[in-house]
Amino acid sequence: MTNHYNTIIIGAGHNGLAAAAYLAKQGRKVLVLERRAIVGGSVVTESFGDGFTVDSLHTGGILRPDIIKDLKLATHGLLVDTVHQPFISLQPVGHASSLTYRDHLVIDSNPVKAAESIKHFSVKDAARWPEFVRFMDKSAKILNTAYATIMPRLPMNFGVKEGFGLVDMGLSLRLAGRKDMLNFIRALPMTAQELVEEYFESEIVKAAIASVAIHGSTLGPMSAGTGYTLIHNWMNRGGLSHVNVGKAGEITIALANAVKSFGGEIRTEAEVVNIKIENQIAKGVVLANGEEISANVILSSADPKHTLLKLVGPRELPPEFVWHVQSIKMRGSVAKVHLLTDGSHEIPTGTVVVAPSVKYLEKAYDAAKYGEISEQPYLEVTTSSNTVSIHFQFAPYVLKNREWKVESGNIYKLATDTLNNYFPDLQSQITNYHVITPLDLETTYGLSEGDLNHGQLMLDQFLFMRPIPGWSNHKTPIDNFYLCGSGVHSGGGVSGAAGRNVIKVLK
Ligand SMILES: Cc1cc2nc3c(=O)[nH]c(=O)nc-3n(C[C@H](O)[C@H](O)[C@H](O)COP(=O)(O)OP(=O)(O)OC[C@H]3O[C@@H](n4cnc5c(N)ncnc54)[C@H](O)[C@@H]3O)c2cc1C
Repeated sequence: MTNHYNTIIIGAGHNGLAAAAYLAKQGRKVLVLERRAIVGGSVVTESFGDGFTVDSLHTGGILRPDIIKDLKLATHGLLVDTVHQPFISLQPVGHASSLTYRDHLVIDSNPVKAAESIKHFSVKDAARWPEFVRFMDKSAKILNTAYATIMPRLPMNFGVKEGFGLVDMGLSLRLAGRKDMLNFIRALPMTAQELVEEYFESEIVKAAIASVAIHGSTLGPMSAGTGYTLIHNWMNRGGLSHVNVGKAGEITIALANAVKSFGGEIRTEAEVVNIKIENQIAKGVVLANGEEISANVILSSADPKHTLLKLVGPRELPPEFVWHVQSIKMRGSVAKVHLLTDGSHEIPTGTVVVAPSVKYLEKAYDAAKYGEISEQPYLEVTTSSNTVSIHFQFAPYVLKNREWKVESGNIYKLATDTLNNYFPDLQSQITNYHVITPLDLETTYGLSEGDLNHGQLMLDQFLFMRPIPGWSNHKTPIDNFYLCGSGVHSGGGVSGAAGRNVIKVLK
């Protein structure tokens, strides 16, 4: 077996695979090393028993269109569903079978249809919906431009190339129009509650939107900066609801196929335990089985804390850099409950949320602040045929006086009891279930502290401060060693931007 490559990429999540595919396409000799037996990272479809196949973590998703095109992912089996299913906020009334669309808030991707449902909660809100969608789409476009730009290494000096990138970004932002630009900047530090209150009066409408702002973050809708997370999630989803539900794994399988088609290699069950460094230059990796592989360039798509503190090690890094990395806020508080049912469940198709009011969401978050599991959680539910997948918040990684090893039953109970308020027959329809706790996110899926974005998306951890101030351009103090996962600027969520952008700065 060859033990020298031009480029080694640690981790076969969608960002690692995207970077590998671009590099292999350039003709580099590329090797991807993945600790799990399968590729995909958080974008993976797995089986937990007979007929029990689900998107284990992330629900659906889309890559940036330029990546799909550049890597010819359609020819590698990626069929992107462009139709958004509706976003549905449940209302606790009656029996599911007797509910009409008027009882639930059904926000269709077609703004005119969405306004039809919103009108039953507030005529004023229905009238404002198209304007809100326009603002969010425009803001998502602006954020996407920033995410396509390599950030300067503030407060360090930065190079001419990065300077040109910034000028480019400035120009396209200017072209967005002065008013939209200003509104976008104003929205970022706002709380989601403040932002939605500027547009809407109905509690159910406000809470439905605010739930997307806190999805995946350990923040409540009254936390500063959830204006930004709302725009971030809107951008990655292309609106409120998910696409490709039940087929998330197809994204990473197509990426892996692309890597191989360009001549790259992927090895699974190949955990990297150490990065070999000589005179501040990365030389290769050591695997858990003791094997050593050398390379000219090494990229890591694993999270920055794991990568820099465990694989590189503090002794190889400047003390201030280490201190910053240690200070990265990783605060996972998401659990997942998958249900296999007999097929008679009545949960509608789409992205379904339990988010009855902004206060409900904030109270759910309050629990996490004190190391407690939310007794009344915010849930986001999707279905694919007879399976039901429940995203559960808040389930903090660090529990007070309790241990995750014994808490998975509690999560299952809280999730199904909550859904039972809306679908009273659900319990009797369940034939199997699988719970993923924040500890499982760390041990099985390699996410430090169960943080699904490799570091919280917060205003002090974004743009030129992601992953840490002064190191926002994928580079590290180690020569020939780069970061390309969700923990870097443009990362967090499914887009492939971090894996695509790193290519621009490689030697
Ligand atoms: C429950 C959940 C819900 C989510 N919901 C959303 C959402 O609604 N919207 C959204 O946009 N995003 C969402 N996300 C986030 C999104 O899925 C992730 O940010 C993104 O998929 C991360 O991709 P990545 O390639 O950067 O990293 P990962 O997918 O984490 O891949 C990193 C890979 O590196 C491997 N690895 C780690 N250490 C090593 C090592 N030492 N050696 C070898 N391999 C290693 C891991 O096994 C993993 O396969 C969600 C994530 C989760 C978990």
